[in-house]
Amino acid sequence: MDNIIQGISAFRGEVFPHQKGVYEHLGRNGQQPKALVISCADSRVVPEQITQVGPGELFVCRNAGNIVPPIATVTGGVSAAIEYAVMALGVRDIVVCGHSDCGAMKGLLQPGALDRMPNVAAWLRHSHAAHTIVCEAYPDTLDDKQRHHALAMENVVVQLNNLRTHPSVAAGLATGQLTLHGWFFEIETGQLYAFDGQAAKFVALQDGVAIPVAQTSAPRRVAADLTPLAAE
Ligand SMILES: [Zn+2]
Repeated sequence: MDNIIQGISAFRGEVFPHQKGVYEHLGRNGQQPKALVISCADSRVVPEQITQVGPGELFVCRNAGNIVPPIATVTGGVSAAIEYAVMALGVRDIVVCGHSDCGAMKGLLQPGALDRMPNVAAWLRHSHAAHTIVCEAYPDTLDDKQRHHALAMENVVVQLNNLRTHPSVAAGLATGQLTLHGWFFEIETGQLYAFDGQAAKFVALQDGVAIPVAQTSAPRRVAADLTPLAAE
């Protein structure tokens, strides 16, 4: 803990005085974060550092495996964070961010490892679809690293699908106000990959090239054509 305590002291003595105006503004006027980021709780994946943004700019929800339980299951912190970010804060972008060397994904690949962690095992059931996709749709010849990589990326796609089951997100997509992003952070290289929803593939981000999105904000769209009813 010593370095953490030293960090608190350094923040108060050196960092905060330089950012006093920012914090005072945020304290007086509330937060207006640009995006909701749902990332893994892994200590090596720090959304604010990856995106180089300061306090007040990201609404972050972190958990083991960057998981979004579908709305039909028991209400929990992730559901509440999504609803609050969309309905109260009005975020226009939601990012689900997975990463390399993810312990949660390793747990899925080695079920025996979770025998003494029933809560982790139960939580990871929300990623079973990703595991089954990797088992059924990828070659048997993948080595361990390739299998893990594929699983972590498919997990991001599965969680994006779960995200769409949340009423606030479904409504945000129908009214054209939300954009969904799927990211994968490679720890050892610092490379970020983004899911291109149209190509259905992750692509490495490059400077000067627009970030692909999982689902772009579209014009308001509703499925029912009510014109014939109105004419009756
Ligand atoms: Zn992880």
